[in-house]
Amino acid sequence: MAKVLIIGAGGVSSVAVHKCAQAADVFTDIVLASRTRARCDTIAASVKQRFGRSIETARVDADNVPELTALIRSVQPDLVMNIALPYQDLHIMDACLEAGVNYLDTANYEPPDDAHFEYKWQWAYADRFRQAGLCALLGSGFDPGVTNVFCAYAQKHLFDEIHVLDIIDANAGDHGLPFATNFNPEINLREVSARGRYWERGEWVETDPLSWKMSFDFPEGIGRRSCYLMYHEELESLVKNLRGLRRARFWMTFGDAYLNHLQVFRNVGLIGIEPVDFQGQKIVPLQFLARLLPDPASLGPRTVGKTCIGCLMRGQKDGKERVRYIYNICDHQECYRELGSQAISYTTGVPAMVGAMMLVTGAWNRPGVWNMEQMDPDPFLEALGRYGLPWKVVDLA
Ligand code: NDP
Repeated sequence: MAKVLIIGAGGVSSVAVHKCAQAADVFTDIVLASRTRARCDTIAASVKQRFGRSIETARVDADNVPELTALIRSVQPDLVMNIALPYQDLHIMDACLEAGVNYLDTANYEPPDDAHFEYKWQWAYADRFRQAGLCALLGSGFDPGVTNVFCAYAQKHLFDEIHVLDIIDANAGDHGLPFATNFNPEINLREVSARGRYWERGEWVETDPLSWKMSFDFPEGIGRRSCYLMYHEELESLVKNLRGLRRARFWMTFGDAYLNHLQVFRNVGLIGIEPVDFQGQKIVPLQFLARLLPDPASLGPRTVGKTCIGCLMRGQKDGKERVRYIYNICDHQECYRELGSQAISYTTGVPAMVGAMMLVTGAWNRPGVWNMEQMDPDPFLEALGRYGLPWKVVDLA
């Protein structure tokens, strides 16, 4: 029925490709292209072994818009799924417009030379996508992604108005290594070392990086963990699209070992993105550090424990004050047994496939540039559970 071109061949892409292959009635043709073709071929071999399906692979530099446009024109997909890095977003959107193809990604644009992400650059494409009759779906991972859809579901079914939103992301997994990130190390470290920010009564309030802490009792055996306030990209669109919102915050759990390493990296300048001279060469400290860290895609066999990502919301329904929590629990070892990946890649790759499914089946295909909460949450959440990420709603008050 639909042909997809998937760009990027890392941990998240591997899950998305396998899940597209599993949904064979929807994704009849899959082409996987990335900077290093060998990584595409490894994923293709695993798909063949697990699902008996052949997928095509190609090499492409997604920062080279003419090269990517030529690839898109030769493949003629219904959709390009960008599962490379946030640096490529605008180039891939440009190529999609040139070639007349729909677009989807999992993370918003970030300029390589400024550790700062914001939707303004991608929202500025809205008129061009609308005029071309094309759809661009932004942030179809877990957070952003499923968290936005949880909010849309809550707004549609659980509340008349949501007043307070706390998105809480726990990775209670243990990989047994002194330090590793669970998705691309460069992007991860840029994000966690940024200043915190939350939204209250129409204003953004800044905090020092990871300086605010709370404790949350996670369900299903995970228990109480420390969570740190961070800025996260879905807040930017949610504060525009949720009715009656007064406060929105994002929290993530970190263990002491992670925080101690982060502090040392920061203290000695290893998180820096300004090039420094080293033996006659310019190197970017963070890129050098990222090169030394484990590939997140390799953590699958050694990671045990669970993730729990959800939205805690306080608001009104039928004149009564309500507190409701929507969440998913995902087990690292179950993901490894199913697809050879750890749960962070899994919880991002599955919604990338489900977002693509919504788009190519027409359930969510509207010309323009959209964040996930702007679409009908029901078909997405039905498919999300069916493809491996069941979710629950709990009434807390
Ligand atoms: P990886 O680093 O494992 O994979 C990135 C892939 O993109 C690699 O295969 C890399 O190629 C490829 N790539 C990089 N630059 C280019 C380029 N110029 N042209 C073509 N291919 C390129 O990252 P992850 O899989 O961990 O993360 C993928 C994306 O998912 C990121 O944008 C990340 O921010 C996002 N993410 C979103 C989450 C969410 O919940 N929304 C959660 C986690 C991640 P090569 O193999 O040659 O290095």
